[in-house]
Amino acid sequence: MARYDVIIVGGGMVGASLACALSGQDLRIAIVEAVQPGVREEPGYDERAIALAYGTKRIFSGLQLWDELAVAATPIHRIHISDRGHFGMTRMDRTEEGLPALGYVVPARVIGQVLDDAVSRREGIEYRCPASVSAVSRTGDAVQVEIIQDGVPETLSARLLVAADGVNSLIRKQFGIDSLESDYGQTAIVTNITPQLPHRNIAYERFTDTGPLALLPMTEQRCAVVWTVASEQADDIMALDDDAFLAGLQERFGYRLGRLQRPGRRQAWPLKLMQAAESVRERLALVGNAAHTLHPIAGQGFNLGARDIAVLAEVLVEAVRKGEDPGSLEVLNRYAEWRHADHQGVTVFTDGLARLFTMPIPALGMVRSAGMLALDLVPPAKRLLTRMTMGRAGKTPRLARGLPL
Ligand SMILES: Cc1cc2nc3c(=O)[nH]c(=O)nc-3n(C[C@H](O)[C@H](O)[C@H](O)COP(=O)(O)OP(=O)(O)OC[C@H]3O[C@@H](n4cnc5c(N)ncnc54)[C@H](O)[C@@H]3O)c2cc1C
Repeated sequence: MARYDVIIVGGGMVGASLACALSGQDLRIAIVEAVQPGVREEPGYDERAIALAYGTKRIFSGLQLWDELAVAATPIHRIHISDRGHFGMTRMDRTEEGLPALGYVVPARVIGQVLDDAVSRREGIEYRCPASVSAVSRTGDAVQVEIIQDGVPETLSARLLVAADGVNSLIRKQFGIDSLESDYGQTAIVTNITPQLPHRNIAYERFTDTGPLALLPMTEQRCAVVWTVASEQADDIMALDDDAFLAGLQERFGYRLGRLQRPGRRQAWPLKLMQAAESVRERLALVGNAAHTLHPIAGQGFNLGARDIAVLAEVLVEAVRKGEDPGSLEVLNRYAEWRHADHQGVTVFTDGLARLFTMPIPALGMVRSAGMLALDLVPPAKRLLTRMTMGRAGKTPRLARGLPL
């Protein structure tokens, strides 16, 4: 039986980042990933552009991966939030925070490639792929994971199992951890376009009759589009030809960036909220989408997962240095307690935004406008929103300060 200190199930953006954080710490790590790199269509390595909070950029710096990501990253200098047909509008600007950027937009595909390369070259990581988990069991001081790789069954054993296997986490289910799930009845349609006017590094979030519409600045003056629509409209919008799609988009976004043109490939993502009832058990920790899956309205999902791995890695490395068992509940509870407020805060904030900004009731337009005006007029509220969006609320782990563990 192959023995490890840590087995990470799921080599998506969060699982692979955790493996990188733990490498070089005298730990034997295995990642079990079902889908082969390069053939991944979903969920972490696709056409989307991911808005990385400034804090997440720091985590990648701490992992010594930022230089590789930076070549494909577009800084966000300003965020512009508006409501179509109403007067409220708010802006957040990097100068208010005294930082070079509020965040960075990086294609998911690039993040995936950089992480896959790092995982294959860093010491102490064994990459089991394509391999699927068939069963999990726990004994006193270890966890056993049955996998099938190349048709061959094998048992792996470790002191700690990390579930990084996404929203439908098999590991979470096998451990009998309940989850709160709620379908938003919405689908995010994702593509990219090239506007007639330069984006000037501004990220736009616009609330429209169909749902929120985000345009994020990308390289080569392109913009990533995330257009949330009611799920029953999604098939029709996906089936539109490019001209009709652009016309619909233009009608919602307006002409702030001139004419919208040259749309790329479209992808549709049905949206739901998922919150695991527990994030640790003896020998188990949940991270990323396996622990919490959010509406993409505020671009917080991966950023929250990145903070999970920054904290978990710090807790585990400190425990091992002190000679503690990294899979013990005592150690894992430190991770759960540290993450609790951030999980709750970001989930409630994102869910509230998603519900407020997708309700079509006309009077709500007034509430939203008033809310945005109030946000603009009350600096502490706006500052809190900016800090949350940048991933800077709460106690900061070492990696999120750009420091090694
Ligand atoms: C439209 C859209 C836009 C978004 N934009 C942003 C954004 O701008 N900023 C942001 O921070 N977040 C954003 N997000 C959220 C972000 O994409 C997710 O939070 C992030 O991808 C979660 O990563 P993960 O590694 O936890 O999970 P996943 O990406 O789901 O990865 C899970 C991995 O586990 C593997 N796996 C699953 N089951 C098994 C098994 N049994 N055995 C082995 N392997 C398994 C899968 O193959 C996969 O590789 C967006 C999401 C959507 C839908």
